[in-house]
Amino acid sequence: MSLLSLSTEEQQALRSNSPLLWLNPRLGDQNASPSQPALAGIDDAEARLLRFAPLLSDLFPELRASEGLIESPLLETSFLNETIDTKGGRLLLKADHSLPVAGSIKARGGIHEVLCLAEELALQAQLISSTTDDYRKLGRDAARQLFASHNLAVGSTGNLGLSIGIIGAALGFSTSVHMSSDAKEWKKQRLRNRGVTVVEHDADYGAAVAAGRAQSDANPRSYFVDDENSPRLFMGYAVAARRLQQQLESARIPVDAAHPLFVYLPAGVGGAPGGITFGLKQLFGEHVHCFFAEPTQAPCMMLGLAGEPGSTPIPVYDFGLSIATDADGLAVGTAAQWVCDSVRHQVSGVYTVADHSLYRSLLALKERENIEVEPSAAAGCSGPAMLNTDAGQRYLQQQGLIGQENRITHLIWTTGGSLVPEQEYQHYLEQAIKNTI
Ligand SMILES: *Cc1c(COP(=O)(O)O)cnc(C)c1O
Repeated sequence: MSLLSLSTEEQQALRSNSPLLWLNPRLGDQNASPSQPALAGIDDAEARLLRFAPLLSDLFPELRASEGLIESPLLETSFLNETIDTKGGRLLLKADHSLPVAGSIKARGGIHEVLCLAEELALQAQLISSTTDDYRKLGRDAARQLFASHNLAVGSTGNLGLSIGIIGAALGFSTSVHMSSDAKEWKKQRLRNRGVTVVEHDADYGAAVAAGRAQSDANPRSYFVDDENSPRLFMGYAVAARRLQQQLESARIPVDAAHPLFVYLPAGVGGAPGGITFGLKQLFGEHVHCFFAEPTQAPCMMLGLAGEPGSTPIPVYDFGLSIATDADGLAVGTAAQWVCDSVRHQVSGVYTVADHSLYRSLLALKERENIEVEPSAAAGCSGPAMLNTDAGQRYLQQQGLIGQENRITHLIWTTGGSLVPEQEYQHYLEQAIKNTI
């Protein structure tokens, strides 16, 4: 086994399925991230999303009000604070559970990647003359025929498949989604209803991705959205940081030395939290503190970030874990190496959460704020409490924040939920209530 910066106690906690907060010893060490992408990638993605906004507004009526921008509100919660002890700090929610079109954070990365492909194909075929042309042309028949002659493929635990399937079908691509065994039935059904081919695999996320990649590679007119290695997904996620900055400014919420921002991001393979961290660090530097949240059964990013720079991430299976969790969006056994090698110097730490805590938070969000999320999306809620652990106190000590906790703004990123069918959500609530008695 390669070197891991996890203590014996931390490794023991991982093996015994106990929640823990791991602090990243390589925070601030540029050499820890040998694959850092160019910052210009964020500008590029932001500009592309703007170019496509008029077309997206045509394709999705729910985007009319935002003129084609896919964005979620920043919420200041008042009642949740009774459940989540922030020691006088401020509590915010970034409400990606309500992100339009795909109902999860995957609307950011997944849609951006498909737009990259659509733009490339349309420019080659001269359906648009340049990137300043009117992109609404890409909703017309000629473009749809072009896209229909190309296959889009992706491997997913569910939400990425939904996002790619919805935008792929809307543009006219023939789309295949390879689903892992933990993917929910309703997600498959929803895709089939839109004419997407769903391929079911009796194996985990990594295997679904590998199968999708192999099938796609065999077809020269097929494009594979590679969740384990995709700068395009990553940059789509990174744009969220720019949008958040604008929302913080409009709400007059400062982020500076006197007002540090602590962000809690649920992590699967790492692209979404990694991209957002990359974007936030560019804007706020050392004043933003990014923590990733994972199920106790699937701490793949903890193992990936704790690994040596440039090394293959260790799978959670090596720690006797099985990725058995109701947080299907986070049920990933092995982190994306590329993401680990991009943001290893930027992530403050990673914590794990037991499923019963996810349910407790899911219930609190419903009862206190009337917010409905899926279990994966509740993982951020445990962040502020993790600062009360020994490791958390050590972190606050290092940052000179002991006794100054009221200066902290805590931001919980709720990453999915609005497409969950009512009946399915009721099951989650029942499970949550069962847990509390
Ligand atoms: C995919 C997903 C995440 C994490 O994104 P990764 O890129 O896999 O790390 C978090 N929450 C939800 C609901 C998701 O679907």
